[in-house]
Amino acid sequence: MEKQVLFTIFGATGDLASRKLYPSLFRLFKRGELAEHFAVIGTARRPWSDAHYREVVLDSIADLANDKRQAEHFASHFYYQSHDVADAEHYITLKNLGEKLSSQYQTLGNQVFFLAMAPQFFGTIAQHLKSEEILTGKGFERIVIEKPFGESLETATELNDALSQVFDESQIFRIDHYLGKEMIQSVSAVRFANPIFEAVWNHQFIDNIQITFAESIGVEDRGGYYDRSGALKDMIQNHVLQVLSLLAMEKPETYDEASILEEKVKALQAIRKYNPQEALENFVRGQYVSGEFDGQNFIAYRSEPNVAPDSRTETFVAGKFLIDNERWAGVPFYVRSGKRLTEKGTRINIVFKAGQNSLFGTNEQNVLTIYIQPTEGFSLTVNGKQAGAGFDIEPLRLAFRHDSEYLGNSPEAYETLFLDCLNGNGMNFSHWQEAKRAWELIDVIRQAWDSEKSDLPEYPARSMGPRAAFDLLERDGRSWSWVPDQWYRERGLLGTETEIK
Ligand code: NAD
Repeated sequence: MEKQVLFTIFGATGDLASRKLYPSLFRLFKRGELAEHFAVIGTARRPWSDAHYREVVLDSIADLANDKRQAEHFASHFYYQSHDVADAEHYITLKNLGEKLSSQYQTLGNQVFFLAMAPQFFGTIAQHLKSEEILTGKGFERIVIEKPFGESLETATELNDALSQVFDESQIFRIDHYLGKEMIQSVSAVRFANPIFEAVWNHQFIDNIQITFAESIGVEDRGGYYDRSGALKDMIQNHVLQVLSLLAMEKPETYDEASILEEKVKALQAIRKYNPQEALENFVRGQYVSGEFDGQNFIAYRSEPNVAPDSRTETFVAGKFLIDNERWAGVPFYVRSGKRLTEKGTRINIVFKAGQNSLFGTNEQNVLTIYIQPTEGFSLTVNGKQAGAGFDIEPLRLAFRHDSEYLGNSPEAYETLFLDCLNGNGMNFSHWQEAKRAWELIDVIRQAWDSEKSDLPEYPARSMGPRAAFDLLERDGRSWSWVPDQWYRERGLLGTETEIK
């Protein structure tokens, strides 16, 4: 059903707004979720006119728009207000415009504020929304924010304190894209809708769990931001720990936001918080240097635009988390994430214990792989009999992937998140208790690294990270279960035949 709502986007001239927000709003418009009763106020410092703003919006949706009149009709709902977030006067203008549009489009007083700006402004904006009475309590009032949620436990707490003076937790929607992804939601389905997996989801049967968030791209044009952040804060603190908590949590009482949150938080609380020495032993980092892949040369991280030439920022992290509870006693959760790796791929490998079998000796380990990006699906490696004469056991892969046609129609993560927010469903957003615990775990690692003076391990661009990341598992008698992937190759999605370590 059509939603009635007024959106206010702070940072409307920025990259996030045009690359992600406008296209996903347009998708919702095409699906009829937004129709006549919505309006968007875009605000930022630049003195744009409505007409210019609408041109920008049209540009940003050009790829999606196959009907010019429909696109123009969509863009006609957009209004621009030049605004400095620190200036109280500007909020009065904003309030007046909001009231006018609210009655013109009959938005029922429902408001969604999207802060597509640096987090240092969040507190100021929230305070002004309250003091200038833009928040009226007439309809639903929700605020959507992007990562990063703070830069440490201390700054995240400050940020949260500022927001929670104005909004309560149920009104705050912290985006974590990976939670919006369908397959992550399906992690729960794989686990809880299949008795065969549910029964073995514990330390008795699982040897280890591996979570990989690999990117083949470098920092692109976001070097300035990334150089202050690094892979640990950019990926592990939020996305990786979110996925880990979904995998590790106990079965929620019901499949709803509150029950799932409760279980995820318990799982995060049970992750062992390392002391600095343990952090150094269990986490490794790396930075990419120049490399060559598929006949193409890639520059070193330190040569990327807006990156300090002597930067010590990590572009790769691998580590081992341990969960101190009954279900996961002794099961390592290995995680890794990096830029300029061999290929793009987000996947989870559940590696089961090898069977000591009196008939066939030691079998290959069964591995359940959940693929999240760039394709979604899962596979299960089981042992079967090799075809033909003789009796040799070999690992076979039972695989299911959504084909590309389906993917084409698959909702963009942001679109789903917008819709969830409009429906007041916070299940696929991260909550303060989760962010807080994640920072507690991450801060220790960051501080341990910051006090370490030794050289940063290097890895060539378009490889799977530094040697230390492989040693981390080899030390435990294990290895990463990332194998050359036939599926991508057959569909021409991988460059060439390349040895993937
Ligand atoms: P950007 O620099 O492209 O845009 C920032 C926007 O804020 C601009 O519209 C600018 O005019 C506005 N702005 C800055 N100072 C202002 C002030 N004093 N008053 C009013 N407006 C002001 O940044 P971005 O890439 O769009 O990112 C925005 C936020 O989203 C950041 O916190 C970023 O970390 C986060 N984020 C962005 C992406 C992305 O894909 N771009 C992804 C994840 C997270």
